[in-house]
Amino acid sequence: MPLVGLKELVQKAYKCDYAVPAFNIHTYEDAVAIVKGAEEMKSPVILMASPSAIKHLGIKVAACIMNDLAQRSSVPVVSHLDHATDLDIILKAMKAGFTSVMYDGSNLSFEENVQNTKFVVKVARAFGVSVEAEIGRVGKSEEGEQLEQILTEPESAKAFFEQTQVDALAVAVGTAHAMQKQEAQINFQRVEQIQKIVDVPLVLHGSSGVPDEDLTRISKMGFGKINIGTVLKTVYVQKIREILLNKPELKDQITLLKDASVAVTQMVKHKIELLNSAGRA
Ligand SMILES: [Zn+2]
Repeated sequence: MPLVGLKELVQKAYKCDYAVPAFNIHTYEDAVAIVKGAEEMKSPVILMASPSAIKHLGIKVAACIMNDLAQRSSVPVVSHLDHATDLDIILKAMKAGFTSVMYDGSNLSFEENVQNTKFVVKVARAFGVSVEAEIGRVGKSEEGEQLEQILTEPESAKAFFEQTQVDALAVAVGTAHAMQKQEAQINFQRVEQIQKIVDVPLVLHGSSGVPDEDLTRISKMGFGKINIGTVLKTVYVQKIREILLNKPELKDQITLLKDASVAVTQMVKHKIELLNSAGRA
C-alpha cells in the first residue's frame, strides 16, 4: 500500500463516525509493532515522529523507517512530523519525504501563529504535504514539562482555520500530554461548540490519558486524528522489564525487543477498536 497524505485519511474519518489513530514511534521496533497492529485490524494508521524521536533517530532515518514500512504495509500509512516549532525542521521533514507535518505555534500570539502556519501551508502545498496546526494549548509538553493549559476558544478556532486552511486542527479540550493514568476530563460542551462552527477535522493530543469510553465518544465528534504516545512507551518498557526478570538467560537484544513489542501491538489494536477505525483501511 503506498504512503498516503494525512488530508485524505482524516477527511474520510471526519465524515464518518470514526477517527484515525496516530501513534508516536520512538525506535524501529515500536514502529514495526504499530504497523502490525494496524494491519491486523485493517485500520489506516498515522505514524508520528515527535521532537524526542527526531532527536534520537535523526530526521532522515525517521522518514526512512516510516516510509519504508508504509510501502510494505497492507494498510494506508501516513508519516507525520509531530509538534514542530521550528520552520527549518519542517522544511527538512518535507524534503526527507514526510507526508504530513504539524506546525505547533501554540506558544505564540494568535497573529504569529496564523502567520507562520500560513507560510507552512504554502510551502507544504508545493510539496504535496498535509498540515496540522494547533490553537489553544494542550497542558504539558511531550516530555512531561508542565505548561499552562489554554482551552481552545471556538471563535478563535474558526478564525484560525479560515485564515490558514490547515488540513487538521489540534484543539485543547481538557487533555494533557504524558499522562500515565486515564484521568483526563474532556470538556464535551467545548468540543460541541467548536465542532458546530469549524468545518475541519479536529485532532486530539494527549489521548493516552483519556478514559476508554470517552475515546469512543470523541471519535464520533468531529475528531479525525487521535494522538496516542505515552501509553505505548509505558507498555513497551513494562514488557521489557518483565522479560528481563523472567529470562535471565536471554543474551540478545533482537529477541528482547521483538518479544516486548508484542505489548505495543496489543495496545495499538485495543485503541483502534475504541476509535472505530477497524476495517476502515
Ligand atoms: Zn501532542
